[in-house]
Amino acid sequence: MAFINQDFRFKEKHDKHSRLRWLLFTAGCAVLGAVIASTNSGSEGLDADILAADDLNSEHLPAFIENEPTAATAVRLSFELSLPELQAQQKIIDDINHDSPKQWREFKVKSGDSLAKLFNRAGIKPQQLTEMMKSGEAAKQLTRIYPKDILRIMTDGENNLLGLRYEIDHENYLMVERKNGVLEVDTFKHDIETRTAHASGAIDSSLFMAAQEAGISQNLIMELAGIFGWDIDFLLDIRKGDHFTVVYEELFRNGEKIKDGNILTAEFINQGKTYQAVRYTNPENNRTEYFTPDGKSMRKTFLRSPVNFARISSGFTTKRYHPVLHKFRSHKGVDYAAKRGTPVVASGDGKIVHRGRKGGYGRAIIIQHGSKYSTLYAHLNSYKSKLRVGSKVKQGQTIGYLGSSGLATGPHLHYEFRVNGVHRNPLTVKLPTAKPVPKRYLADFELMTTPLLAQLELLTRTQVALNN
Ligand SMILES: [Zn+2]
Repeated sequence: MAFINQDFRFKEKHDKHSRLRWLLFTAGCAVLGAVIASTNSGSEGLDADILAADDLNSEHLPAFIENEPTAATAVRLSFELSLPELQAQQKIIDDINHDSPKQWREFKVKSGDSLAKLFNRAGIKPQQLTEMMKSGEAAKQLTRIYPKDILRIMTDGENNLLGLRYEIDHENYLMVERKNGVLEVDTFKHDIETRTAHASGAIDSSLFMAAQEAGISQNLIMELAGIFGWDIDFLLDIRKGDHFTVVYEELFRNGEKIKDGNILTAEFINQGKTYQAVRYTNPENNRTEYFTPDGKSMRKTFLRSPVNFARISSGFTTKRYHPVLHKFRSHKGVDYAAKRGTPVVASGDGKIVHRGRKGGYGRAIIIQHGSKYSTLYAHLNSYKSKLRVGSKVKQGQTIGYLGSSGLATGPHLHYEFRVNGVHRNPLTVKLPTAKPVPKRYLADFELMTTPLLAQLELLTRTQVALNN
């Protein structure tokens, strides 16, 4: 249900906005027009955009249409305005209401500042800080302000706080308003517009270089690597000439890009083999995952390696020279060398069946995954606290920390993977994939993903044409 619905919702919202703008604009024009002529200072803020601010939602709308615009509604509607625009607008509101002029002022948080100091600078009566902090749970956000944050504050002529606005992050803002003499605080969401973007890149030296050349962010490429990381080892398998195409979301606020959103669909060609993934939310459990175009999960039930950023120091062999025991022995696992203390994670969901010293393995954990699979993690420095025999663990959950306990020449993780009790090479064993799209949702899956996959197809075809 994810994207199409989402796009549709945004579209709907915008349509609603344009209707609203028109309505409010025509309603307000006559009144505002006269003031524009006389003030001449806020002409920029007086077009329809004044009314195009974010939270023109249905909740606030009726009051605005049915009644005269009050200072409070106007404040909310004008959240996006710059300070001069705000001030100009405030004057209009005051004129409409025949109030004495109020003032919006901007205060930048300096290092070592506190809210009390800021209120002092704004000349607000000190007890009103206490009043504001008691005005609601949301006010607590204001205890976490940082240098360079901006607070916009409105006071009347008698040093009373009438309003305060604070950008919590890109998507949320906080509003304090005095209504009928009482301060009220609430947080609001900005209207975020989602646009679809795409990028393609070919690997010359590294994946990150390719990403940079394609103009996509490190975050996005990490996400891409996460999607295909079950099939492609991005440390070992990447070759010159590999290439990728990615269709992703970009989030905008007031026409300005804030950040990248989700990857919608992507293709990665690794050593001539094509992998495709598409994002889909399973309506059964509301879980969003990446699937192959035919609905198989991209995810495997096991991670290929239970430590990140580690070097494989010894592979799986049936015969090798043991450096400590000084004799030939098979090595029925994979060794990962990394810094002592590096987190070791459960490679799959399961239950801990052993946690403790186990001969040459040193401190070891064994996890049972269903009836068929088990994994072993040896030479640990320590265990994750609270984990015991019988504890349930999730894939990717930290279970312990890499070390050199037992028979080990240096800090490394010795990892074993057993199928029906038999040791298998964790690097090459065919890992079971996570659950596919449930049969009864396959039609929905197809409906949701076909347009995305068609777009991907078109992009990759164009790419091929460009390369030839
Ligand atoms: Zn080993």
